[in-house]
Amino acid sequence: MKRIVIIGGGIGGLTTAIALRSKGFKCDVYERSPAFEEVGAAISVWPNALRVFRKLGILEDVLEKCGEIKEAYIKTSKGKVLTRTRPVYDLPAVCTHRADLLDALLKHLPQENLHPGHELSGFNTRKDGAVHISFTNGIEVAADLVIGADGINSMVRKKILGDGAPLYRGYAIWRGIAKLPLDQGYGSETLGLGNRVGIVPIREGLFGWWATANEPQGQSDEPEGTLNKLKRIFGDWHDPIPALFDNTPAIIKNSLYDRPPTSGWSKGNAVLLGDSAHPTTPNLGQGACMAIEGAYLLAESLYRYGISEQALKVYEQAHFQRTKSITNNSLMIGWLGQLQNPLAASIRNLFFYVQPEKASLAILDKYFGHDVTSIDM
Ligand SMILES: Cc1cc2nc3c(=O)[nH]c(=O)nc-3n(C[C@H](O)[C@H](O)[C@H](O)COP(=O)(O)OP(=O)(O)OC[C@H]3O[C@@H](n4cnc5c(N)ncnc54)[C@H](O)[C@@H]3O)c2cc1C
Repeated sequence: MKRIVIIGGGIGGLTTAIALRSKGFKCDVYERSPAFEEVGAAISVWPNALRVFRKLGILEDVLEKCGEIKEAYIKTSKGKVLTRTRPVYDLPAVCTHRADLLDALLKHLPQENLHPGHELSGFNTRKDGAVHISFTNGIEVAADLVIGADGINSMVRKKILGDGAPLYRGYAIWRGIAKLPLDQGYGSETLGLGNRVGIVPIREGLFGWWATANEPQGQSDEPEGTLNKLKRIFGDWHDPIPALFDNTPAIIKNSLYDRPPTSGWSKGNAVLLGDSAHPTTPNLGQGACMAIEGAYLLAESLYRYGISEQALKVYEQAHFQRTKSITNNSLMIGWLGQLQNPLAASIRNLFFYVQPEKASLAILDKYFGHDVTSIDM
């Protein structure tokens, strides 16, 4: 029986394993961390990704610990509502704790196919067509196909595309989870001058939040300290923003990167999936959702065309334009959101303010309305 190896046990790698198993493929997931785990932050999972989970028969488990966004607002730092949107689809727009999503996926994979503590060190295709894969712990395995679901700094991408490091987009993001006295369906994004705050519902009074600020790449919060810095920047914003930071047990900080959309996701018996193929800034909350869509498309294509160059090309053709458009639009939305010039920011705010809800919903439909499970490959 043909064997598929997935490098990387994040949301993309695990969803791919579930999708491949549903089509009868044998596959193993190799993850460099000592355990399959995610950071302590929220993640939005939009209807376009939930349709994949529904098709894979795991929707109920995913939804079990999710909160639904019933009303989403864009506000100014003083609390003025610029837009109010109530998304209505066949499936809800939800948010969850990243670790809960990973657990829901892990539940559907047998332990014997999960290999934590395995960091890829290299792979080569031999004359017999098999890929020989080696890990830094000295273990070697052979496979008929290797899927690089190893994230934005992918080693598999280095080998397939070799296009260098991701690009820093000029702003940092802090994230956390806090208990807040808000309606459970509340979601918001608040726009300032070169900074923003987003709040999304998880469950039982828990809300995920994120805050951004323009700053040089890799800037440290010290000696001021993260808490003081966030309170200095956001302390006079509308409620409940000033209370977010003290109510958060652990705050995570990242710099934000992406890569310009690039085709050529496969070479020989190796292919990219998720952030390794199409890393994006998180402004549309679609990075993991695209990885989930890609997992479905790759499994479908391999099922239809067998493990072959054609299958890998069909997968890319079905997914590339969408990931390109989302990555480019996300970058633009980030640029708009991070405007620091007061005049430019007030024109942006006016643009949002005059936009009818119908127009906002029409824009969202492009992302949320998409259904990869109905694509005929
Ligand atoms: C601040 C922020 C907020 C976001 N919010 C959202 C959101 O709300 N909704 C959404 O859909 N997306 C969101 N995203 C994007 C989302 O997190 C990513 O798109 C998603 O996690 C990509 O999944 P992945 O499995 O492709 O890669 P990753 O999650 O990066 O997983 C890659 C895995 O590969 C492993 N790995 C790496 N190298 C090796 C190696 N050499 N050997 C073995 N294993 C290796 C890593 O340890 C990791 O477990 C956000 C991103 C950021 C930064």
